[in-house]
Amino acid sequence: MSVSDSQRGFDTSPDRDWVPTDVYDWMSKEKSILVLNYTMACPLKCDFCCYSCHSGRASQKMPVDLAFSLVDQAATLGVFSSIAFTGGEPLLFPDEVCAIAERAQSHSLPFTIATACHWADSPESAEALIDRLADLGLSRLNVSHDPAHAEFVRTANVINACNASLRRQVDTYVVGTFADAGESLAGYAPELAGIPGLRLFNKYIAKVGRAASRPITQSTYGLHLGLDDLACYRRIYHDLVVFWDGRTYPCCSTFNRSTPGIQAGNAHFESLKDIWDRVDGSLLLRTMKRKGLGELYRIIEERDPELAAELPRVESSAGPCSLCHAIFGTRSMSDRVKRAFSGYEADKTLKAIDAIEGMLGRSKTTEILAEIVDMAPQDGVSEVSSSNLQFLPMPRIRAKTEGSEANDGE
Ligand code: SF4
Ligand code: SF4
Repeated sequence: MSVSDSQRGFDTSPDRDWVPTDVYDWMSKEKSILVLNYTMACPLKCDFCCYSCHSGRASQKMPVDLAFSLVDQAATLGVFSSIAFTGGEPLLFPDEVCAIAERAQSHSLPFTIATACHWADSPESAEALIDRLADLGLSRLNVSHDPAHAEFVRTANVINACNASLRRQVDTYVVGTFADAGESLAGYAPELAGIPGLRLFNKYIAKVGRAASRPITQSTYGLHLGLDDLACYRRIYHDLVVFWDGRTYPCCSTFNRSTPGIQAGNAHFESLKDIWDRVDGSLLLRTMKRKGLGELYRIIEERDPELAAELPRVESSAGPCSLCHAIFGTRSMSDRVKRAFSGYEADKTLKAIDAIEGMLGRSKTTEILAEIVDMAPQDGVSEVSSSNLQFLPMPRIRAKTEGSEANDGE
C-alpha cells in the first residue's frame, strides 16, 4: 500500500509547497550548514535547472584545497552542524567528495549529498558508493527525481541508491520538482512511495535558470500568498553556500546565484569567519528570516515611501525567494533598498545604545563600545553619536546590546 506525503508528515497543501530549496529544516536535526556547491557540471540537463548545469561545465569545479580549507575553517568556527555537497552533480567527483568527507569526519562533522543518481545503475554500484560515503559520515542522501530528471536517469537508479542508503540507515529523501500543482512524486513514481522509510518531498519549478522565461506567477500554482506569508525558508539557522568560484550566499535558495544583492562575500579572498559574521550579523537578513518580507516592506514604506511604491508586487512572485530576487537581483533596486534599510538599522542601534546609556551611564557605555570596536576612546568613540556611528561594526554592537540571536531555539 502506498503512503501519501501527508501520512509521511509533510504538509502538502499548495501554500506550503513554495519552499524553494533543496535544503529544508530536515526534521530539525540540522542547524547551520556549510554547503559546498562543488561544481556546475552535471551529466543531466534538466529543463528547469536553476543553474543551467550540463556536462560541458566540468572546469567549473571547486578546487579541492579550497574545500579542505573551508571544512577546517567550519570546524574552527564551530557554528555548523554539518557539511553539504550539492551542485551540479557532486558525485561526478566521488574520490574528491570522499577525501573532503574524510576531512570533515576528522572534525566530527557529518555530511549530506544532493544527487541525481547517474552513478547508481545497478544495486551493486549503488551499494559500493553509498557504503563508502556512509563509512565517512553521510547523514542524509537527497535525491532529485521527477519527469525532467527521468529524461536522463531511470527511476531504477533512484531506487538502487535509496535502498542502499536506507540499508545503511541514512536519512533518505527524494525531491521532485513539478510544473503543476496537481503533480507529486507519489503520483509520478508510486514505486518510490512504496519504499519503507523513504521520504518524498514535492516542490514547484522556480522561475530561474533554464526556467527563467516561463510565465510562472502565483496563479500558476494556485497560490494566494500575501507579503506576510513570505519569509526566508530557514528562520533561525543559515545554509551558507560557497560555490566553486568562492562566491558565497546566505541561503540555498534556487535563486541565490541569480541574486547578486544577497551575495555575502567570496571565500577565495576572505575567511569563512568574516563571511559568517557578515551573514549572522545582518539585520536585513535577520528581518527577512524572523519577521519576513512584509516587515521589510513596512520598514521601506516608513523610511522611503517613493521607493516603497516601486517595490516589486507580491502577486508576481510565486514565493519569498522569487520576490527577494526581484528586489535584490538588480543592482539599482538592491542598493536603494539597502540604503533605506541602513538608516533604519542605524536608528535601532542608536536607540539600543541610548537604552544602555540610561542603565549604565555614558562613561561605562563608551568604555564598552570602545572595547567592542577594539579602539581606545581617543581613537574615535569617546562619545557615541550618529556622526561617528558609521565607524562602528554593527554586528558586534548588536551582539553586545541585543544579545546574539544566532542560537535562538537551540
Ligand atoms: S540534476 Fe540537478 S544540477 Fe543536474 S541539470 Fe538537473 S537540476 Fe541541474
Ligand atoms: S528570501 Fe532571499 S535571502 Fe531568504 S532564503 Fe530566499 S533568496 Fe535567500
